[in-house]
Amino acid sequence: MISKPFWLSEDSLGFDQLQQYPTLASKETADVCIVGGGIVGTFIAYWLSEHNISVILLEKDVIAGAASGRNTGFILPGTVEHFNRAVFLYGKDKALSIWRFTEKNYKQILDISQEEKIDYDIQENGSLILAGSEQEHKELKESIALLSQAQVQAEWMPKSFVEEQMGTPQLFGAIKTKIGAGIQPVKLVNALSSVNQKRGISIFEKSSVIDIKEYESNSIQIITEQGSVDCSMAIVSANAYTSQILNSFSELIFPFQGQAFVTDPIPTRLFNEVIYANFGFEYWRQLKDGRLMVGGFREKDPKKGEGFSTEINIELIHGLYDYFNQLFPQAGQPSISHYWAGTMGFSQDGLPIVGNTHMPHCFVCGGFTGHGLGFASAIGELTANLIVNGKADDSNLFHISRFN
Ligand SMILES: Cc1cc2nc3c(=O)[nH]c(=O)nc-3n(C[C@H](O)[C@H](O)[C@H](O)COP(=O)(O)OP(=O)(O)OC[C@H]3O[C@@H](n4cnc5c(N)ncnc54)[C@H](O)[C@@H]3O)c2cc1C
Repeated sequence: MISKPFWLSEDSLGFDQLQQYPTLASKETADVCIVGGGIVGTFIAYWLSEHNISVILLEKDVIAGAASGRNTGFILPGTVEHFNRAVFLYGKDKALSIWRFTEKNYKQILDISQEEKIDYDIQENGSLILAGSEQEHKELKESIALLSQAQVQAEWMPKSFVEEQMGTPQLFGAIKTKIGAGIQPVKLVNALSSVNQKRGISIFEKSSVIDIKEYESNSIQIITEQGSVDCSMAIVSANAYTSQILNSFSELIFPFQGQAFVTDPIPTRLFNEVIYANFGFEYWRQLKDGRLMVGGFREKDPKKGEGFSTEINIELIHGLYDYFNQLFPQAGQPSISHYWAGTMGFSQDGLPIVGNTHMPHCFVCGGFTGHGLGFASAIGELTANLIVNGKADDSNLFHISRFN
């Protein structure tokens, strides 16, 4: 059992993720500079590469080394909240528009990976959102009614179906969505970074941004430990770490730790879909080779996972393992092969935040609240359009001005 993010390891990737791009050690200029080489920064770069502008991407560590390489690889529709709660929080129209936006994201990721011939171990079998209690059952029934009214492709699976399919009597029913997939996210981000580089984008790793300054009223200077970039526009896509770069974001985007493990392969296929349970606090899938990947238990942490730490709380990993085995004894208690933690950026209202900061030429795109894969491409396109054209479809859904 090793403490290492599975996706970043040789066992999944074929090599341990190491530095692939140079460190910035000079004074550069660009039209746009992106700070952060996770899945979101990489998709912003991809969409900017369609325009005739120069782009530099700066990453503090290695590409996909933070949350984007430490998740469980679900691409899901919707937000972190069940749909009934999203309707309560944002209103029916907005909740539905966000759902449609994430459907668009899903399609874009599939289309782009096909066009660019990206192999990222996709398992395209939909998602199951499980009811783990009477209360969750009631809320999921409300959610499916609202989704059906809006003609969203989703089905109700009764308790008997879940019991038969999963071999456990402890669950109360589920929503099944056709949209939903499991991926190897580091393979996707690496491949997309190569595409970006071929399209002329300069990528620098091990290049931590230590300051962003406005100068001459319409230019931005980005300073790293060994170099700098002068640009017309900056985009901070550092998600959990946004407030470390821009202090004013400490009230808007907060760091939360999530933990996960993967087991040795088991011979039986228990699950095809990516699975969310207990209001999204626990989630699991079975990889193509039979390994079980399980995440969650943040709610059992006395600090609820708050903070930037990626240090592992082994008691939580053991608790999560016991929870899973108690639900699915037929898994046969396989050994854990890898376990790890990652830092997510939660926003004040649970939705991504896109827009300018106190510096009009410095944008932020972050606050994915545990669902960054569900937004990455579509929000990358939206951000690129805002930067290049000053407007974008759906920008009202996520615009920072909602906090004014
Ligand atoms: C255990 C776990 C399970 C998860 N499961 C899922 C899932 O199944 N599906 C899903 O959609 N989401 C999941 N998430 C959340 C998902 O990983 C994130 O929402 C997503 O990766 C956010 O992408 P990002 O590019 O915005 O952030 P990140 O991947 O965190 O990228 C931000 C980058 O900015 C860099 N950076 C920070 N500071 C600086 C600086 N000063 N200078 C330069 N660069 C800097 C970081 O090094 C990092 O690489 C999970 C997260 C965890 C931890």
